[in-house]
Amino acid sequence: MFETTIAGSLPKPAWLAEPGRLWAPWRLSGADLDAGKRDATLLAIKRQEDAGIDIVGDGEQSRQHFVHGFLEFVDGIDFARRVEMGIRRNRYKALVPTVVGPLRLMGRVHGEEARLARAHTKRKLKFTLPGPMTIIDTVADAHYGDRVTMAFAFAHLLNAEARALQADGVDVIQFDEPAFNVYTDEVNAWGIAALHRAIEGLTCTTAVHICYGYGIKANTDWKATLGSEWRQYEDIFPAIAKSPIQQVAIECRNSRVPLELLGLLKGKVVQAGVIDVASDTVETAEDVVSVIDAVAKFVPKSNIVPTTNCGMAPMRRDIAEAKLMALGAGAKLARQKLG
Ligand code: ZN
Repeated sequence: MFETTIAGSLPKPAWLAEPGRLWAPWRLSGADLDAGKRDATLLAIKRQEDAGIDIVGDGEQSRQHFVHGFLEFVDGIDFARRVEMGIRRNRYKALVPTVVGPLRLMGRVHGEEARLARAHTKRKLKFTLPGPMTIIDTVADAHYGDRVTMAFAFAHLLNAEARALQADGVDVIQFDEPAFNVYTDEVNAWGIAALHRAIEGLTCTTAVHICYGYGIKANTDWKATLGSEWRQYEDIFPAIAKSPIQQVAIECRNSRVPLELLGLLKGKVVQAGVIDVASDTVETAEDVVSVIDAVAKFVPKSNIVPTTNCGMAPMRRDIAEAKLMALGAGAKLARQKLG
């Protein structure tokens, strides 16, 4: 009970990428960069194992950004043709690349790190991929002329990589859809259907991570405008509950999402964020237990997987590691107190 995992990313070592920021430039190149990514992946796994995390990941050490790490392997995108676009309904301005032709995978995206991770841990292994809706919110289109068609084209590619990850021995594949609480009408109209395309034929565990974003300023400013209760999920949870996606990852620690909304996710395993990634205050084990206890009012205990609220990529590394320790210790204490 209360098997733990992490949302996805961990901070990278300072020798690999500039610390403390998203889209951090690499500090190595060529073969040194490839070797550095492998070393950082092994370190990330070791840190998680030492913290008592049960379902470990690669900490996204091989990708510069959770969306573009995938796009780099897709043919049909012109990275030189960058357009400034407001993304997540204009919450941030980003220079995004342009889709200029039919989308096609150029090869494996995360094969190397997945096989490396699989060879070096006996624990369950989770890999994250960006979801179709979030991807199309992060690229410009000069080819498809229709964003839904383009989303399904990406979903087709995601499915190919997801099937390959499963064959590599990955146990859990999670699609990150932070766009899901921004475009709730579209989630119901086609976003969940696009996710279905992405998970088609998978027999491993499937998950979707929806969230209010990293602890960066653009997000904390946006969250301040959302009012005292964040009820966006009320519009989309009923449809997600009916979907074949098995797990839903949601932020719960210091979140204004009313936890009663989790009751709408009947039958789902809830990866409950019990670690706040927008604060440098390190949780105590008791803090973790209290969030698990609060979630347990609405989700059967056997369906709760404690995790981090979101990725920790932009955090200070020592703080992120202390938070991992708190997550492992808190889940252990919860097993004793609530199990
Ligand atoms: Zn997130």
